[in-house]
Amino acid sequence: MGIHTADAIVLRQYPYRETSVLVTCLTDRFGKLKGLVKGLRDQQRPRYRSAMEPLTLNRILFYDTRSSSLHLVSQCELLSGYAELTRDLDVMRLAASCAELADVVLEAEDPQPMVFHLLKDTLARLSGGERRLATVRIHFILRLLRLAGFHPQLDECTGCMQRPAGRQAFWSVRQGGVLCERCLHQDPRAEAMAPAMLEAFVACAEADGPHRVDPANTEGIQRYLDQFLHWRLERPLKTLRLSTA
Ligand SMILES: [Zn+2]
Repeated sequence: MGIHTADAIVLRQYPYRETSVLVTCLTDRFGKLKGLVKGLRDQQRPRYRSAMEPLTLNRILFYDTRSSSLHLVSQCELLSGYAELTRDLDVMRLAASCAELADVVLEAEDPQPMVFHLLKDTLARLSGGERRLATVRIHFILRLLRLAGFHPQLDECTGCMQRPAGRQAFWSVRQGGVLCERCLHQDPRAEAMAPAMLEAFVACAEADGPHRVDPANTEGIQRYLDQFLHWRLERPLKTLRLSTA
């Protein structure tokens, strides 16, 4: 059994027994963890410096029991509540959908510090007044998928691995990316993607931060990403459809 400290973003919280809660957190060093915080809701005897609300950043101290995937959180301190998130419903929905996606995509206890920082930066950006929500959303999804190792293949045809000639490409959910004209027979349902759309999509995928997209392409890129997520995750996400431009 070890004792560890970590910075942790709360992804989910459930009440447990009379006064305790179960939390799912994304931590900086230990990946996604499940924790039990005993007596967190005990209002008679407050003993924690955070309520461990979803979408807050906390410093936690937890016991790693090794024999169980549920860890005992013995201390928690609020580092950032991202209070401004709650001022706008669309912003809050986008933040919640980013947390849900990270939760669904990540395996438990698999350290993913870059995903932690991606989510932390995204929450800070949204809380800090960023209003280009579609841009933030596209960046978050593409970066998360890349870090998780299953991003859509955009720069090469998924059939022949060549760059689509003249950038004329077809979007194939089933193939997980684009097809060139010669390989179109691999998925007759693939949909023609305008060269400018593909160019914008690739630019978003390669950018280090939210990349400004021509509004004409924003809707299309989001639709491709939603299709891709539904296909790869094989389950609908509660919050996925809620956030838009
Ligand atoms: Zn091809």
